[in-house]
Amino acid sequence: MLIRTIALVSLVWWVSALALPSASAETADELPLSLPTVRIGTLDGAADLFGEAVYLRDSEDRLDLAGVLRSRAWKPFAHPELNQGISADAFWIAFRLVNDTPMARRLVVSHDLAQLSHFAVYAIADDGTRAGMEITPAMPLESRPLAYGGSAAPVAIPAGEARDVVVKLRNDFAVPMHIGVRVWTERAFERHVVRQVALYAFWTASLLTNALFWLLYGIVMWRWRLLFYALYMLSIAYTYGSFFGIGYPLLYPDQSWLCDLGYHWTMFSALAAALEFARRHLEVGRLHPRHNLVLQAGVRLCLAAMIFALVARRPEIEAPITFALFAVVPLYITFLSWQAWRRDGIAYARWMVIGWAAVAVSLLLAVFGGLFVVPGMALTPTDYVRLTFVCTVCESILLSISLAQWLRGLDKRLLIAEEAAARDALTGLMNRRGFEESVALLMSDGRWPGDLWLAMIDVDRFKSINDRHSHPAGDAVLVHLAGLMQRQRQQGDLAVRFGGEEFLLVFASPSGMDASARLERLRRRFAETPTAFGEERIEHTFSAGLVPVADGLGADVATTLARADDALYAAKRLGRNRVHLAVSIIGSPGVIEVDGLRSEA
Ligand code: GH3
Ligand code: MG
Ligand code: MG
Repeated sequence: MLIRTIALVSLVWWVSALALPSASAETADELPLSLPTVRIGTLDGAADLFGEAVYLRDSEDRLDLAGVLRSRAWKPFAHPELNQGISADAFWIAFRLVNDTPMARRLVVSHDLAQLSHFAVYAIADDGTRAGMEITPAMPLESRPLAYGGSAAPVAIPAGEARDVVVKLRNDFAVPMHIGVRVWTERAFERHVVRQVALYAFWTASLLTNALFWLLYGIVMWRWRLLFYALYMLSIAYTYGSFFGIGYPLLYPDQSWLCDLGYHWTMFSALAAALEFARRHLEVGRLHPRHNLVLQAGVRLCLAAMIFALVARRPEIEAPITFALFAVVPLYITFLSWQAWRRDGIAYARWMVIGWAAVAVSLLLAVFGGLFVVPGMALTPTDYVRLTFVCTVCESILLSISLAQWLRGLDKRLLIAEEAAARDALTGLMNRRGFEESVALLMSDGRWPGDLWLAMIDVDRFKSINDRHSHPAGDAVLVHLAGLMQRQRQQGDLAVRFGGEEFLLVFASPSGMDASARLERLRRRFAETPTAFGEERIEHTFSAGLVPVADGLGADVATTLARADDALYAAKRLGRNRVHLAVSIIGSPGVIEVDGLRSEA
């Protein structure tokens, strides 16, 4: 429904825009006798020309300067005309500039949003002498009358003299573009240029740093959503560069082939990337198959439009598609983000809601704002376009926050999965994998071997416990032993279920006596506390082999485990329910074995 309404509104707008009133030029001998006048002495920095000039619309762009000078079709230049804008028709503005100051002055006439495809300023002296200059977007900076990336030309007037100034504007963008012609004092114009360049530098720098950061991150992590985000930002930065006069000579130095390609194609690539980014980032494929189809179709449509724009180069067809898509896509992504946030519980989607809503509103204003004159507010479409730029910069920051939040969630999920993979599901102790990772950590920290001891514990005659009481009862015994190990565990100890009914305990201890005593306490506790399973009470014992990790026989994990296993085997052989300590003295050929500290319960 929303999409249909938007489509309808765009259609109405297009029909009204294309049906602009256009005066065919009637010819006369000279400019209207009394041109509105701008006096330099009273000019305060800059003046907009509405009400201060006359205009003439030449819908077929047939007239040259001599032709318009003879025309009778000039009309007063008022605000509604400004909002209708210009497209492929030529638009002329004329006014009289009087230097009522005692010095020769140079003024600047400018049109300061997008580069116009044709901008010319002619100054005609009272004796009929004409000076004029034309500026096209691709003109290199050094051959322009002013080193300025927008459309601007100087007009020089000696003290006490006057010039009739005639300005010609044409816009091949095929979409009406606002007519914001201004006259500036030179100093005010210089300040304006500095402000424009600073703003442009800020916009581009923030979009580009953002894009490059996520591009690198996306390549390193090989995450497509980051790459599509970067592509979106790069396309937007490029599009704004072309749209905004300052960027033009930088992007297209010396009429490069890039200039020939126009810039609708980058708008389409921006839209395609934005849709694909939204599709992946909001998990639309998994959660909303129907929207997923719409998004995929949208991406294909934008790519087809991009190829059309690159190959056919028909701005009059590309422009309406651009505008329709720019009116619809941001709204649609805003809706999807809202849905992801509120219904699907994707927390990071809320940043997308705010960012895209701001962009959607500002774009709608930029597209449709020119149709309405808000009384008391001198907002022009240029202001709305600036607003779009600012909103896009804010959006890029919000999308980055959203990505960062997603990454943090991903990190957490990875950590939890890692944790789970390293843990034994039945007892909650570390499993063999967790043990190996922990030993690797101890080694890299220099704490292995240190004064560590390793005990290998095996429940005695466990098979018969299973046979006599059932397998679940056997499980309960394992859980009981694990619980005892956990309770006795000290900071830094490793308690591991190594497999089946075999456990490991790794702990620091100053001596074999001390280490055996500790293990002995565990053995006694296990033997003294039968496991309760339903009505049954299951008696049990374990045997353990205990070895120091730092040993003349080698401290690598496999060797240490093998020595502990030998000691365990000795404990079993000696009658079970005991701790067997095996210590080798460095330099001595054998191993000293102690059937350690066994005290019968
Ligand atoms: P010994 O005193 O020589 O160690 O005798 P044992 O019966 O404990 O020795 P054995 O290694 O032959 O038996 C281990 C048994 O442990 C075999 C297997 O069925 C059982 N087992 C292994 N994992 C589990 C488990 O997760 N739960 C239960 N209930 N039993 C297990
Ligand atoms: Mg066993
Ligand atoms: Mg056993």
